[in-house]
Formats: sequence, structure tokens, C-alpha cells
Amino acid sequence: MLERLREQVLNANLELVRQNLVLYTFGNVSGISREERLVVIKPSGVPYEGMRAEDLVVTDLVGNIVEGNLKPSSDLPTHLVLYKHFPEIGGVAHTHSEYATAWAQAGKAIPCFGTTHADYFHGPVPVTAKMTEDEIAEDYEKNTGHAIVRSLQESSASAVPGVLVANHGPFAWGKDAETAAHNAAVLEAIARMAYYTMTINAAAQPVGSALHNKHYLRKHGKNAYYGQEKNER
Ligand SMILES: [Zn+2]
Repeated sequence: MLERLREQVLNANLELVRQNLVLYTFGNVSGISREERLVVIKPSGVPYEGMRAEDLVVTDLVGNIVEGNLKPSSDLPTHLVLYKHFPEIGGVAHTHSEYATAWAQAGKAIPCFGTTHADYFHGPVPVTAKMTEDEIAEDYEKNTGHAIVRSLQESSASAVPGVLVANHGPFAWGKDAETAAHNAAVLEAIARMAYYTMTINAAAQPVGSALHNKHYLRKHGKNAYYGQEKNER
């Protein structure tokens, strides 16, 4: 079932390892088939090394296991909330990558200090509000998803392909699982560069809207002209 999606999601999970975004079994990537209304996600607590496509778990959109012998990642409910609220996305990636997590732990949105950021994110990388005790006590993973959705009220999932969950770490997404993993890697690079920027100059200012819009819109706008094809990441 969903062989192609399984391969894609496996490859996207392994990309987190290749890009040094995860330690041990941390992190997870999923992908969705909108036609079949099914999600493929990494199994919980299984090492990436030796992971096979058949180890991945297929669930429906409320989290029931449809195929697979292993338990799905415990963050599955967060992924499901994102798929429900962001119909334009096809993949979600979660890591505890070091610099993005440091910003999340500091409770700080990442300002757009340069064109690398502007190429991918239209505006700062938001950080969610801290979760309340009630939100943590019950349906914690689902509430994490809702906190992410609320942090994007001023923007959209396509203009901002990732956010920082306060005191936790980054979630990123994209048109498919591989793009989600790619965006998780870019988010880590942006977080690292922003950290260095502020270390060198604590008074550094975000780029102005002219440069920000130029870089974002030449890749993503209606009249995008960057790269070889319209849908290049
Ligand atoms: Zn986590």
C-alpha cells in the first residue's frame, strides 16, 4: 500500500540524518496521500539506521493504524492537525536540530536578517505561544499542532514553511515529505546564521521589505523567475 509514498517518506526521514538534524531516534517525517486520505509516518522510537519502507506506519486522518506492525511516531497527532488546517501541504518534518531548537527554547522568532531566509520564508520564522498546563496535560501533541496553526494567523503555510514550537523545536512542511525535510534543513541553517548574526552584532536589523520581497517573490511569487522550472523549491 502506498509504496511510492513510503519510499518518499523513508528517504525524507533519512535526509534528516544526512543533514545532521537528528540525534538517535529524535525527529520524524510524514507524507500524506490526499486522494487516499492516508498518512505515512516514521514508527516511534525506531533507529534510522536500517529503517525500511515497510517499517513505516500508514494511518487514517484521525490516527487509526491502517497498515503496519509498529506504533506510529508519538507526534502523529501534531502532523494530522497540520494536514487538516493546511490543505496545501503534503509533508511534515519535525526535528530537534540544534540552532532552531535553541531559538525555540529562547522563545524568540527568527528575524529575517538576509536573503537566504527571504528565499524561503516570507517574514520571520514564528515561535508559538507557550503551551498552558491544560494543553500539556491532555492531548498535548494535538495541542502542539493547534499552537503551530495559531502562530501562523498572520501568514500562511505556503509563505512560512516552518515554525518553532516554544520550548520544544522546529516543525517544517512542504508540498511533499522530501520538501518538508529540505525545509527543515534550511530552517536550521537560517537559525544558525541568525544566531551568528546577532553574536557579531546584537543590534543587527532585519532586512528591509524591498530586499525581502524581491528574494521571496522571485522564487515564490506569481511572476517567479528563479531556477529552471516554476515549482523549483
Ligand atoms: Zn519533538
